[in-house]
Amino acid sequence: SPYPIRLQGPVCKGFGRGGKDLGCPTANLPDDDNGGIGTGVQEMRGKVDTGVFYGFAKVIPPSSNDHIDHTTLPMVMSLGWNPFYKNERLTAEIHILHEFENDFYGYDMKVLVLGYIRPELDYVSREALIEDIDTDKRVALNCLARPDYARFAEDEFFVDDK
Ligand code: ADP
Ligand code: MG
Repeated sequence: SPYPIRLQGPVCKGFGRGGKDLGCPTANLPDDDNGGIGTGVQEMRGKVDTGVFYGFAKVIPPSSNDHIDHTTLPMVMSLGWNPFYKNERLTAEIHILHEFENDFYGYDMKVLVLGYIRPELDYVSREALIEDIDTDKRVALNCLARPDYARFAEDEFFVDDK
């Protein structure tokens, strides 16, 4: 199994494809290989199929007086080929299952990918897409509640805020 997969890097601006409009903002990891200490997104190439994944994520505040929630939280991630780069680069978009008061563009984010939910689909309607996202979130929470997965929230990867 390729899991767990550890990804890390600063949260980047996306194409604003309406994540927030769908009630599902997705934080993007850098699309280069030098995102941070951990693995880069491109290293997932050949290890896994594209699609929707679940796991844990943590946002790292740039300073100790920044009060953003920096606990380890459940996440769903969409991994796909980026049409902007002629489908030659992978893009990782992470939705954290948590209400944040503020955006956290530029903040470092750690992502621990633990399993696969489904392939990407072409949606005929916005409603169908939203329905699937809701299902993905439930699947993620159910999987992560299993003791074997819950222990990954305590993974050493998440201990240091660096
Ligand atoms: P973009 O196209 O720039 O990715 P989105 O509409 O997808 O725009 O919004 C993503 C941004 O929303 C993230 O970079 C982050 O700063 C913020 N955000 C707020 N809440 C969340 C959340 N629960 N999960 C992910 N990102 C969130
Ligand atoms: Mg996004």
